[in-house]
Amino acid sequence: MKRLTLAVAILLLASANLRAQLNAYFVNVGQGDAIYLEFPNGTNALIDGGPSGEPIYQFLKGKGVTKLDRVVLTHPHSDHYRGLKKVFNSFEVDKYYDTRAENVDAQGDNNLRELAGAEPGCRTLYPEPGSELKWDSNVTVKVLSSCTKAVQMHDNDETNNCSLVLRVYYNGNGILLTGDAESTIESEIMRNYKSGLNSTYIKIGHHGARTSTSAQFLARVQPKVAIISVGKDNVYGHPHKESLDRLRAAGAQVYTTLGGTQSLTIPAPHKGMELLLDGQPQFGDLSSTETPKFNMEERPFETADRAALQQLQETAPAK
Ligand SMILES: [Zn+2]
Repeated sequence: MKRLTLAVAILLLASANLRAQLNAYFVNVGQGDAIYLEFPNGTNALIDGGPSGEPIYQFLKGKGVTKLDRVVLTHPHSDHYRGLKKVFNSFEVDKYYDTRAENVDAQGDNNLRELAGAEPGCRTLYPEPGSELKWDSNVTVKVLSSCTKAVQMHDNDETNNCSLVLRVYYNGNGILLTGDAESTIESEIMRNYKSGLNSTYIKIGHHGARTSTSAQFLARVQPKVAIISVGKDNVYGHPHKESLDRLRAAGAQVYTTLGGTQSLTIPAPHKGMELLLDGQPQFGDLSSTETPKFNMEERPFETADRAALQQLQETAPAK
């Protein structure tokens, strides 16, 4: 009996330890986006679902997911929403985050609002730019951009600029998730946020299209690692050379989902600052073939926490 209690205690400790890290998965869904986040408090979030249901469904099943605490649709383009239909039909969803953008050409296909409405206990939210999402008390999730006024659009690039842009910040490291936002929005975000944009990781906007990822934006974000979610031989020619050149010039290691799902871990406070990455960098520094590990100066959690609080004090954009 005693031995059993000890075994249970060790198991609980081990799982609490595992949970204290933040994991991000940039799922290989072909030409599209799907990002799965595991928070230190044990909750999760899925941001976009890719262009079809099966890849994201298989990924989540493989992770043993039965419930998603949050599902986010960055903007109503099929390479982001279509995979979420199967997600709603297959998993319990607690909260659905959306923009007020409506792609009129997606009518009859993008039925996510209806699916969220029919999901028992699921709430739909339209977060305002400048707001903070209370997903984990030790993680700052800030909304940097979104379309919160109802706007009808066609299936074109205009919709990209309605993308919900999020910055996730934990233990001294930021992950910037830009949806398909283009340089116009990057400039707008830069006007509203200063040091709060600095992020170790960036999920590059619009699959590496040349219309996103401006040099000025990279100078502000100062990413060490850039992840491009992109499909093989896509008709758009993503990622474009111009974006890759700008990333190289900014000194970022570039990873893509072409070779499979990319994942990263931000460790718990007091666990050092080693950030772990899966997979090999592509289009990066060609002299380096090793998976980079960043051994940064260890900072006490209080310092990291204060930086997150400082970021929050920056004023929300007046819209
Ligand atoms: Zn897209």
